[in-house]
Parts: sequence; structure tokens; C-alpha cells
Amino acid sequence: MNELVHSIIQQTTLLDRFLRYVKVDTQSDPKSDTFPSSEKEKDLARILAKELKELGVENAEMDSHGYVYARLTANCSSTRKVAFLAHIDVAPDVKGEGVKPMVHPNFNGQGIDYPNGEKLLASENHGLSNCKGHTLITSDGSTLLGADDKAGVAAIMSFVEFLKKNPEIQHPEISICFTPDEEVSAGVDHINTEQLNADFGYTVDGHLPGEYNFENFYAWGAAIKIQGHSHHPGDARGNMINAVRTASQIVARLPTHMLPETTMNYEPFIHAHSISGSVDSASVDLILRAFSEHDIEKEKDVVRAICNALQAEEPRLKLELNFNEQYKNMRPMAEAQPMCVDALKQAIASLGLNPVAAPIRGGTDGARLSYMGIPCPNIFTGGSNFHSTKEWTSVENMAYATATLIRLAEGIR
Ligand SMILES: [Zn+2]
Repeated sequence: MNELVHSIIQQTTLLDRFLRYVKVDTQSDPKSDTFPSSEKEKDLARILAKELKELGVENAEMDSHGYVYARLTANCSSTRKVAFLAHIDVAPDVKGEGVKPMVHPNFNGQGIDYPNGEKLLASENHGLSNCKGHTLITSDGSTLLGADDKAGVAAIMSFVEFLKKNPEIQHPEISICFTPDEEVSAGVDHINTEQLNADFGYTVDGHLPGEYNFENFYAWGAAIKIQGHSHHPGDARGNMINAVRTASQIVARLPTHMLPETTMNYEPFIHAHSISGSVDSASVDLILRAFSEHDIEKEKDVVRAICNALQAEEPRLKLELNFNEQYKNMRPMAEAQPMCVDALKQAIASLGLNPVAAPIRGGTDGARLSYMGIPCPNIFTGGSNFHSTKEWTSVENMAYATATLIRLAEGIR
């Protein structure tokens, strides 16, 4: 194990922190129209602000929306300002209250048995066999663990704790921010970028050690409204224009090599996620996803061509197609500040890990933040199986995340 990682485990209370945080129920609520979506998210925000103060970060505070902000002043000549972010809420997909974390010291590298008879097996879980000898952490199998993203929160808190214990470590000005409601896609809705005040930042919200992310999809929606003409089916010949049939033809004509279920990595897709209506009128909703704007334009052309062809086949149809932009790829923003990704890659490599850039087939808070003026790649937390009852992480993996933050702080000049 890397020496810095070993020191972090020895000198900080990383495990205790993580266990403390996962026991606080912070599940966000997609049906809520308040912010944060569930008031209980603030329970953890308050704890974090208090603990930061106890670590000597006097300016730590929670704002009325449930964001926690704190600032570490530079102790070197660097004039750069960098932000570290993690989200406090957990996914609404499975039960998130009453988390009873299980600690498995000296993990055997093969698997563990849950009390309910279920198993977590290394043979079915990429990265788990690498944790042989680690202190593995899981839930009891009946709830989420909440490593997404309390592993990120704990990694950042241990980073602050380690800096306080090792004041000789030189770092630029660092802004810490814990955000609510990431899991309901609202994590930066009320973020205060002036208070964040950073040249660039990093979310600590990724997967296995070594992995980092600085590119995600360009995302557009396409809404197609179809106006047909209803008629008694017994007497429909030449009269009926069936909007239901047109809607299904649109979906059926999407190229099969451009679907979510047939693509991976950098391949773009068009996804029909909803279809509704009757003979008289129907609608089809698509999402378009690609890693380049060029590919997004090609996808729009595909959808336009399908609509135009159907229109030509039945001129009495009324077809209305509207595209709306949803989010953008953060890559151009991140690359506009080369130090941002380069320093991260170097920080990961300096720990003896292999830096692996993985494209995110979705959007992130960091992507939105990148277009609010703060380019924001994503760093691994060391966890896996997010949004499931078989979520897991290890103390060692989280310590690697903390160590990456230390090396980043040292490397950004
Ligand atoms: Zn997350």
C-alpha cells in the first residue's frame, strides 16, 4: 500500500466518519417540490459544518438551502483556487433509512454473506477481489450503504483532518462544498458560485480507485406530437389517420445500432422513453445522447428524416417535432484549463494507481457546474454497486481518494 494512504488510515478517523455519516438518513425525494427535496438532508449538513469547525475551519457554514461551504486559506504562493465537492443525499432507488453498516476487517477477497442469506461475490463484482485484506464496508443487505456519496464526503473530511495534522503540506486556497439533491438532478440548482469562488473544482463521486471522469454526454430531448384523425374502424378505409400507428412507426424506425441497449463507451444513442396517445393524437418522447456535438446533430437528422418520411407517406398527418437541450459535455470546459485534468492524472499516478479516464454516459452536477464557470471533473470514491443494497467500499479505497486530494492540493500551483 502507498505510504501516504497508510498514513491517512493511521492518522485520521476515516472509518468512524464514514460509519457516522451513512447512519444519517439523507435520502432525497424526486416527488418533492421543495429545496432541498427532503429536509432531513440538512441533518448531515449540520453535522458536517460542526465537524469542520471542530477541525479548525472556523468559516464553515450551512446555508438555508442545505449547502455546506468552507474555505482553507492557501499556505503557499499559488494564487489558484480549487474546490472539492461531494453530495450529502443518497439515491431514492432503494431503502435508505435505518442503514446498519457492516465492517468486514481483513476481507478474504472472495465474498461476504449478508444476514438475509444474500451474497456479495468477487466473481460478480469488478474490483472486489482487489480489496483482499482491506476493511470492507457493506450494508446489511436490506438498505443502501450510502457510499454514493458519503464515501466522497468522508474522503474530503479526512483530507481536511489530515491537512490540520500535517500543516507542512502546502496547498492553494481550497473551497469545500457539500451539496444536497444530486440524486434528483438538482445538486447545483442553488449553489452559490461566488461563495464557491474557485478556478476549477472536483466532485468526489466516482467509482473504483484510479478512475476519473472529465467527459459526459451532450444531451437533448426530442418531443414529437402527432395529430391523426379518428374514425369508426368498421368504416375507416381512406378516412382514419392512426396516430398510435405513426407513433410506433417512429420508434420502430430508430436505427437498432443507436439504442441504449445496443451501445456502450463512446457510442451515441437515441432512446424512446415514452409513447402515449390514441388514434386521434399521440406523442413520442426521445432522448438523444452523444459525446460530440457533431454526433448530436447527426442524431437530430435521423429523427428529422424519420418524421419527414412518415409525413410524406401520409400528407394528412400533422407532425410537430421539437428539440430541447438538456445538458452539455464538460470536456471542452475542463480542457480550457489544462491544469485541471493534468494535475488530477498526476495525483492519481503518484499513488501508484493507473489513472483511467471513463466517459460518463449521463450528466453530472460537475458538468452543469462546468458551464456555470467552474470546470469540474469527477474523482473516484473507491465504492461500487451504487444505488443498490449491495453497495460496498473499503477504508483503503476511500483513503486512496483522500490521498488523491492531498496530492492534487500539492500539485496545483
Ligand atoms: Zn453520487
